[in-house]
Order: sequence, then C-alpha cells, then structure tokens
Amino acid sequence: MSQPETRALTNFIRQIIDRDLATGKHAEILTRFPPEPNGYLHIGHAKSIVLNFGIALDYRGACNLRFDDTNPHKENVEFVESIKQDVAWLGYRWKGLYFASDYFEQLYRFAEELILKGKAFVCDQTAEEIRAYRGTLTEPGRESPWRNRPVEENLDLFRRMRAGELADGSRTLRARIDMASPNVNLRDPVLYRIRHGVIHHQTGTEWCLYPMYDYTHPISDALEGITHSLCTLEFEDHRPLYDWVLDQVSVPCHPRQIEFSRLNLQYTVMSKRRLTRLVDEGFVGGWDDPRMPTIAGLRRRGYTPQAIRDFCERIGVTKADNTVEMSLLEDCIRNDLNARAPRRMAVLHPLRVVIENFADDRVEQLEAPSHPKDQSMGSRVVPLTREIYIDRDDFREEALRKYKRLVLNGEVRLRNAYVIRCHEAIKDGQGEVVELRCTYDPATLGANPAGRKVAGVIHWVSAAQALPAEVRLYDRLFVQPSPGAGRDGEDVSEDLNPDSLRTLTRCMLEPSLGGAGHGQSFQFEREGYFCVDPDSTPERLVFNRTVTLRDTWAKIEQRD
Ligand code: ATP
Ligand code: MG
Repeated sequence: MSQPETRALTNFIRQIIDRDLATGKHAEILTRFPPEPNGYLHIGHAKSIVLNFGIALDYRGACNLRFDDTNPHKENVEFVESIKQDVAWLGYRWKGLYFASDYFEQLYRFAEELILKGKAFVCDQTAEEIRAYRGTLTEPGRESPWRNRPVEENLDLFRRMRAGELADGSRTLRARIDMASPNVNLRDPVLYRIRHGVIHHQTGTEWCLYPMYDYTHPISDALEGITHSLCTLEFEDHRPLYDWVLDQVSVPCHPRQIEFSRLNLQYTVMSKRRLTRLVDEGFVGGWDDPRMPTIAGLRRRGYTPQAIRDFCERIGVTKADNTVEMSLLEDCIRNDLNARAPRRMAVLHPLRVVIENFADDRVEQLEAPSHPKDQSMGSRVVPLTREIYIDRDDFREEALRKYKRLVLNGEVRLRNAYVIRCHEAIKDGQGEVVELRCTYDPATLGANPAGRKVAGVIHWVSAAQALPAEVRLYDRLFVQPSPGAGRDGEDVSEDLNPDSLRTLTRCMLEPSLGGAGHGQSFQFEREGYFCVDPDSTPERLVFNRTVTLRDTWAKIEQRD
C-alpha cells in the first residue's frame, strides 16, 4: 500500500525546513512522532502525526515512531499496540520503530559524562525540598546543599542508584545549570529518579533508575539523527533545556526543536488524564467508544483515514492557540463519505404501510443505483411488497404545504419506486397511528404521474424482507464547548451530554445490507452516514451513525 499524498500546504515549519535544505544544513529530513504509551491516540495526536509523517513524505525523508516510555507505571503494551495500529491505519509507515527505553544504557552513560564534566550532581533533597528551593517566576531559586558534591562522590552514588542500593525518593540526579535562571526549567532540573518494583513493559525489572522526559527526549532525537523535532507549544519553555542537554554530551548531532499549537476541539476533551477517567469510571464503553475523540473511537464511529487527514490539513499548523469547531471535523467526514458511501434505505422508526392494490404474493425487484452521481458504484435490487415500512416522521394526518412527505389523502413518491396515496390512518387505543392504508399508481415507476405534481420522496423498506437492526445514534459527548472549563481537576463528568448515545432497537434495513462487513460505511438515504459496528452479527445487525447529512447543530446554535 502506498502512503497518502499530502497537499503541499506550506506553514512556518515547512518554511524552516525549506531554508535548511536551501542552505545545505540538511540534505535529508528526518522527523519523529513520539507518543507516550499511556493511553490511546486521539485526534490531537493525529494533527502531530499528519504533520510529522506528512513532512517526511513531501520532502522524501522519513519519520520514526518512538515510544516515550520513561514513565512505566502508567504505560502498557495494549497502548503500544493500539498506537502502532492507529498510525498505520491513518496510512503512514514509520522508518524506525523505537522505544526511548532502547536508549536507557546510552542515556545512563551520557549522565556519567555530565557528572564527570561537573554538569550533574546527586541530590539528597526530597521532592518537597526541591520544590521549595525552586523559587517562583518572580523569585530566583536556592541552590541545593548537595550541589557542590565532589565528582567522585556523585559518580559513586549514581552507580549505587543504578545498582539498586538506594531507596525510592532518597536521591535524584540533577543537572547543574543555574538556580537563578529566569527560566524555571533550567533551575537544576531532575534528570533521573529511582523507581523500585515497577515492571517496565519493555525492559522488565532491568532498571530501577528512570530518566526524565526532558533529558531523554533530546538525546533520543539526536541518537536517531532527527533533523526537526516538532512538539507542542507547552514545550517552548523547555527548549533551552533541550538545547543545554545536547550541548553538554557527546551526541552525534543537534536536532532543532520547533513548537506548534495543540489542537483543541469543541465539545470534547483531549487530555489523556481526562480520557482515562472517562474510560476507567465507565462513562463510555472504552477507548474505542464511538463518542470518544480517540482514533479508535472515530474509526469505530465510521470516520475514515482520508477524512481525518483532510481535517488535519484544513486546520493547518501555527503557533496560535485555538479551538476548532466540531463541525469542521464533521464536514470532512461528510465530504469523504458523500463521494464514497453507497446509498441504501433504512427505516429507523418504522410505521407499517399496506399497499392495498399490490398483490399479497407479489415481490417486485426494483433496481436502485448505489450512488446518484457515481455510476461505477453500480446498483442493487430492492424488493417491493404489499406491506412496507416508512419512517414515522414521514407521515402526518395534516400538515402545512411545506411538509413534503406523506399526508392523509395525499401522495408521495417512494424512493426508487412508485407514487403512493394514503387514504386511511389506523390508530391504536391511545390514538397513535399504527398503520397506513395506501394505494400505488402503477404508471409512476420512473415516470411523473399524469396531470399532477408529487413533490415529496421518502425512503421505505419491504416489511416481509427487511432486516431488523439496532442503530446507535451518537451526539456530542459533552454539552459544554470547553468541558471542565473554570473547574480544577480531571473530572469532567458534570459536563457530559446525557443524550450522547440513543439506541434504536427496531430499525428495518433493506435486505442488501445483510452482507455488510464490520466497518463498512453507507449513506442511509435522508438519514445520514452509518457504518457496521464490530458488535454486529448476521443475526443481530448493529449500525453506528457516523454523522447526520446536514449540520443539525449549526441550526441549534443559531437559535440560542
Ligand atoms: P497529554 O498531555 O494529554 O498526556 P501528551 O501531549 O502528553 O498528551 P503524548 O503521547 O506525549 O501526549 O503526545 C505525543 C505527541 O503528540 C507529542 O509530540 C505531542 O506534542 C503531540 N500531541 C499531543 N496532543 C496534541 C494535540 N492536542 N494537538 C497536537 N499535538 C498533540
Ligand atoms: Mg507528553
């Protein structure tokens, strides 16, 4: 499979790369995508993936997938595997597959180099003491009493830290930079901490000494020969530390860190801590719940890699913080599925219709195109029988002229079939319409009825041949555009949309949908785009609504 083409949209990062190629600073571009395997990837990660892999493709370079696995107690192999799957599903191939833990030995040796150069020291301060000594944005920090420890003692202690002789929290290795630096990140940051008893998903129990992200990341980049290390804006203040580390140790090159703004999306959350809570506390069915902003959730919902890549290209890459409207993402999937999803008929709220002048044993096989514009998608056969279902919403006893559906004593066209006229609505004891008695006009198949106009067209299925199905209708997971805004912590459950999932269990589908495989997408005419959920079985079909045909939220928001 070839990798996707990106539209060569320029941005400030590509301009930097263009210059670096023009000046001969680099001949080949190498980027990396560095997820921490402590959760599933989300649509924000997709922005970073499309940026890093897209640049690699457009500049005929390459991109590595590197797991930043320095924080083993929150990480696991399930997350590693899901990340690999999601990057591949988005259509990208990595050059090297690495783990930061592949470099633990080298990182350790660079730390000894720092100690020997007097650039790092073993500190006995507790976490609280370190915090208290760090100072604030307006006040300088104070130096640790252990800062001037002799090199030999530092080396000995650091080796004992590695050998497991020292307890968790008893000591750290810290960079020796500048406690008075206006940049708090340069105030002798911790480089290594002791963690006994964790089983690392890659290195098992080999290490009880773990390097910090800010130390690991620049060295991993340099060891792989990354040319441009692209990360989100919160690392801007860490860049001086990134550069400091690379300047002190004998790495083969000095990659350039460039920051861009994170993607924020309305009506959802993107922090892995918040997403983890939604999963762990059962507010959603799992990481791949179709309401989640995860790649796995979007895939299950029916999003395509093309639509997600299109979205990431449309939002662009800048340094400006912004929040993107959900409608943009929805627009991308509508666009993609409009071109590619075969049309089918499905009745979500069935109302029985008896066509009285249609023989009881007759089955008329009608041919219906799978796409109104794309003939290459072919057609399917739709059976018409005496009893059919239409949607409850497509019938009114009385209605204004604007209502272009079926009205008592009025006419409507059945999509791909004939014009019918309703002359009786049968009600149950509660006054609810339970059946319509109609007749059809045999002269109206593919032809206008003689002497009158029938404006409305509705979808339908044969009652005798329809397949019953469950259809899951999804809405936004949150009712607030910025869930949790103005509140502390990771709990966003108060802002959850109670109606984010509505399950319809008595839907009726046209029989050609019977063979549809998991993940296949269709347009249910007049309803929206739907795909087959992994829960679906031949006995019990289950469809997810990916998106409605039009942006219903735009109307709701205008009204407010
Ligand atoms: P969180 O802060 O929720 O834990 P993270 O940024 O730590 O997320 P990582 O797994 O470390 O998640 O991210 C891997 C890469 O994806 C990083 O380079 C990060 O900058 C990028 N990334 C994460 N979230 C976003 C986002 N919302 N928009 C753009 N890039 C993102
Ligand atoms: Mg991170």
